[in-house]
Amino acid sequence: MQRIAVAGIQHETNTFSSMPTTMAHFIEADAWPGLTQGEAVLAAVAGANLPLAGAVAALEAGGLHVLPLLWASANPSGRVEDAAFEALWAMFESALLAARQAGPVDGVYLDLHGALVTERYDDGDGEWLRRTRALMGEQIPIVASLDFHANLSPLMVNSASALVGYRSYPHVDMAETGARAVGLLQRLLAGEALYLAFVQLPFLISMPWQCSLIEPVARLMYAAEQAETGDILSVSFFPGFPLADVADGGPSILAYAKNTCLAETTAQALAQKVLAAEPEFAGRLWQVDEALSYAKQYTGQGKTIILADTCDNAGGGAGSDAAGIISDGLKMGMPAMMVGILCDPATAQAAHDAGVGGVLLREIGQGRKARGEWRVISLGTGQFAATGPFYAGCQMDLGPMACLQYQGVTVLVSSRKQQAADQAMFRHLGAEPGEAEVLVLKSSVHFRADFGAIASEILVVEAEGDHVADLSRLQYRVCKRRPAS
Ligand SMILES: [Zn+2]
Repeated sequence: MQRIAVAGIQHETNTFSSMPTTMAHFIEADAWPGLTQGEAVLAAVAGANLPLAGAVAALEAGGLHVLPLLWASANPSGRVEDAAFEALWAMFESALLAARQAGPVDGVYLDLHGALVTERYDDGDGEWLRRTRALMGEQIPIVASLDFHANLSPLMVNSASALVGYRSYPHVDMAETGARAVGLLQRLLAGEALYLAFVQLPFLISMPWQCSLIEPVARLMYAAEQAETGDILSVSFFPGFPLADVADGGPSILAYAKNTCLAETTAQALAQKVLAAEPEFAGRLWQVDEALSYAKQYTGQGKTIILADTCDNAGGGAGSDAAGIISDGLKMGMPAMMVGILCDPATAQAAHDAGVGGVLLREIGQGRKARGEWRVISLGTGQFAATGPFYAGCQMDLGPMACLQYQGVTVLVSSRKQQAADQAMFRHLGAEPGEAEVLVLKSSVHFRADFGAIASEILVVEAEGDHVADLSRLQYRVCKRRPAS
């Protein structure tokens, strides 16, 4: 039985964020498991919508022996500290060497993000793949699945035997992508040769307009999927992560086929479609006051308008702690407004100290803080199972949580930041998001998977935070590409 070493190292690095990503962030669990080594990795990811989980299931179904080495993920934030990256590499390297001492390692599967940046390495995933290749030699297949937001580099492409990207944003196909990567690994193990074509596209795409539920990404992803036929074995379109000022930041296309010519023609054909769609990667960004005024008109009708607080999205490296939109909602006297999830550990602790029914006279959040006499409506441990399609199968651990209310505004507070992309994050505190008339979610796109059906309308709002949506506001120094226009 062939033995395949597997590991997951996931981080999306927002280089515009000043909050460094430390080892402590990898150790603690959030929506995804905390740092896990060895056999325990299998139980930690089993059943979750994670690439590693899908890959393990596919490897086992294919009769391959799985050697789990490591799972390490941290919520998107600023650059990963060198010490953390090197500590994780040391764990992975020693586990891989130990596995090889116990018997041959015939292949490696990695669940990587593709936008990991460290203090030293702008292309952290490329460095990880380069080192893995150096350890394993040229003959052993090394295959990785990558996030939809991977900033693909020549180093990544040349170090791996094959790379495969998600097709959906919200990423509801993460586990499925892990299985697709295993499909290519099995071809390589069987001795098939894969020939690749790699095209980097010349503009950056802002995150809210990368959603695969809307055009143009919906049809571009469909085109990528449809292109996989006959001798064309894998076609990935990576819209990229624009909040990373790195040389290879931006969208790309990667195709594998049974000959170079076919791979090249396929990648170029898709590239032409993406280039032609450039003007469509745009949409209205609402200012907070105009979004709140607009939404207020519809209150009292039993509808839910969602305001996507995209700039404060923890899922793209922001703190999810900005309270300006709450403060403005209070000033405007918004009725039935619900906001989640505000990361404010001190307020969560104060609420637990006061108990249900207690009143906190305090400012909550950061930035333009929201002052009020906040009544504690409910409390939670922050430990619960996700129920939506994006975080499917995940056990959340967000630290002490509280539901607070002042005037018409309800705020759900957590102790660890996490993108508001699952209704269970509200229901854990007894709050029903569908009952809010104005629902403010600290998320850019992932919320659409679980909340889309309850929204009569969705407004993408530009408020405070490091997950900047208007890319023209950013000062790129290293990245060679510029925002789509
Ligand atoms: Zn992503």
